[in-house]
Amino acid sequence: MDKLAIVVPCYNEEEVLKIASKALREVLADLVQKGKIAEDSFILFVNDGSRDRTWELIEEEHSMYPARVHGVKLAGNVGHQFALTAGLITAKDMSDVTISIDADLQDDVAVIEEMIDKFHAGNDIVYGVRRERRTDTFFKRTTAQAFYRLMSLMGVKTVYNHADFRLMSKRAVEEFSKYKETNLFLRGMMPLIGYQTDSVYYDRKERVAGESKYPFKKMMALAFNGISSFSVKPISLILGMGLIIIFAAVLAAIYAFVSYFTGHVVQGWTSMILSIWFLGGLQLLAIGLVGQYIGKIYIEVKQRPRYNIEKVV
Ligand code: UDP
Ligand code: MG
Repeated sequence: MDKLAIVVPCYNEEEVLKIASKALREVLADLVQKGKIAEDSFILFVNDGSRDRTWELIEEEHSMYPARVHGVKLAGNVGHQFALTAGLITAKDMSDVTISIDADLQDDVAVIEEMIDKFHAGNDIVYGVRRERRTDTFFKRTTAQAFYRLMSLMGVKTVYNHADFRLMSKRAVEEFSKYKETNLFLRGMMPLIGYQTDSVYYDRKERVAGESKYPFKKMMALAFNGISSFSVKPISLILGMGLIIIFAAVLAAIYAFVSYFTGHVVQGWTSMILSIWFLGGLQLLAIGLVGQYIGKIYIEVKQRPRYNIEKVV
């Protein structure tokens, strides 16, 4: 029987911690009773340097349910993506399969069973995907959708409308732990791991209590990180722009010469126009070219695994 660990990153979640713990304990008890997971499956709360009573509450839950609830206390606030990574990597040595979920229960715990079923059907990663975003504000919904579009335009593979509610098998987490990069954007990394994956669909609810720990600034930072950690396309855009400007310079040159020979130009205009266009284009081209090398260096320093062998016969 597979031992499940539910990993929950928590930052200032005193209002929701007990509610989340209860809901997740019920899910575990139900799955144990149905014989889908091992008796000693557990919840792992990761306290991400909370300034409120979150950690005290986690300790309290652990003393009340020592087998079901475990906690990891990070020394300071490192942010959702790192806190989740810490939790997953800690959990992988104690379990066979992990599920990550936010503390605020916006993600539907009812689909956890379906996730486990899909895991048993041979999937190593099961994505929780939001069916629609009725409960999000108009602003959050449109910015998020624009973000997913931009990501795919930049050539980054992500699962549309999937955040970090996800099942991962032990070997998937093990492979993930080989990615040593510091600029984390977990949902962009998952497709790199490979293995067979599937999705479950749910409606995202409102936060049960407390308020969002992802203000606009943090959201933008995550979005930029997502693009810059996976794509060097912006650099290629500069190079492309340089090429276009050089081409435009040729047209400008023809125009300038025609004007010069037909005679109605001020002294010095022709040479000035030619210099501006050619030098501008040349500079962009050079920056783009240097950028290509920097892009290569960037990819090299990440030292991501180059492949993941699933099986040998
Ligand atoms: N979180 C965290 N560290 C942070 C910020 C958030 O561990 O620095 C956790 C938070 O406790 C929650 C999850 O990340 O469990 C998602 O945050 P939130 O629900 O506030 O984001 P939203 O759903 O509003 O995007
Ligand atoms: Mg939330």
